[in-house]
Amino acid sequence: MPNLQEVVSDIADEMKARADRGEVATYIPELARVDPAAFGIAVIAADGTVAAAGDSDVPFSIQSISKVFTLTLALGKSGDRVWRRVGREPSGSPFNSIVQLERERGIPRNPFINAGAIAITDLILSGHKPREVLGEILRFMQFLAQDPSVAIDEAVAASEARTGFRNAALANYMKSFGVLDNPVEYTLGVYVHHCAIAMSCRQLATAGRFLAHDGRDPSTGHSVVQAERARRINAVMLTCGHYDGSGEFAYRVGLPGKSGVGGGILAIAPGKASVAVWSPGLDRAGNSHLGRVALEALTRRLGWSIFGA
Ligand code: GLU
Repeated sequence: MPNLQEVVSDIADEMKARADRGEVATYIPELARVDPAAFGIAVIAADGTVAAAGDSDVPFSIQSISKVFTLTLALGKSGDRVWRRVGREPSGSPFNSIVQLERERGIPRNPFINAGAIAITDLILSGHKPREVLGEILRFMQFLAQDPSVAIDEAVAASEARTGFRNAALANYMKSFGVLDNPVEYTLGVYVHHCAIAMSCRQLATAGRFLAHDGRDPSTGHSVVQAERARRINAVMLTCGHYDGSGEFAYRVGLPGKSGVGGGILAIAPGKASVAVWSPGLDRAGNSHLGRVALEALTRRLGWSIFGA
């Protein structure tokens, strides 16, 4: 077995040197200010060993990676009723597509495209005030990351709130079909704020550990979800975690993963490790370009693809 820290350091060095870095997201103006040269990686193995390199302690905007954790909370709150509100099929469409939503009468294809994540946010908001539910999401992230310093980047949240016309259209459209229970502005307010949570690779990899270990964080012994639920969240990550780049990610990396337009990816090697990478430049599907390249190198060198070495 190759030395994990050596593999991770090699990959970080290779990625830092590459010229093909993708394009930083600009539709949320605040994200356009991030340095495209940044690269971070953190891997937490089953025994708790941490291998990290590059900008692994620099917080970045987790954006859509937060959808894994809001789905976890929604399943905890509503169980399988979640699947009445959103499907669990890959969309084959861009993350903010409205066309599919019209064809499917306001029921989003899965919880990870924007419409689906907004519907999930609405579900966990019901019965609470926006501020309370946002506090609950943030505390959940702090608990999983074992770090009370995890915070929301208010500048990013305000920037997306100012410019999120497409998400407002999706939300209003779902509201017209009766899919959302709460006022659209409340649901969107919570959504942009949970997307604006900032975390480092190390914090994010720590937060993902329960997904790699049958629903339990092995360092604390805390059971976050039942094993069956962790397995199912991983399945949705594998099939839907990278929008219409999900097939390509499964083909190249072979792990459940969830990307965000901040350039982060959380990837889960079941039974083996939780991995977070960050490189802000995106490919055409809106997924981190070098993040994917780095994960492909990692799984190849360690034989970690779930589909075999
Ligand atoms: N907050 C972003 C949006 O709704 C999330 C998209 C992403 O990270 O892929 O557009």
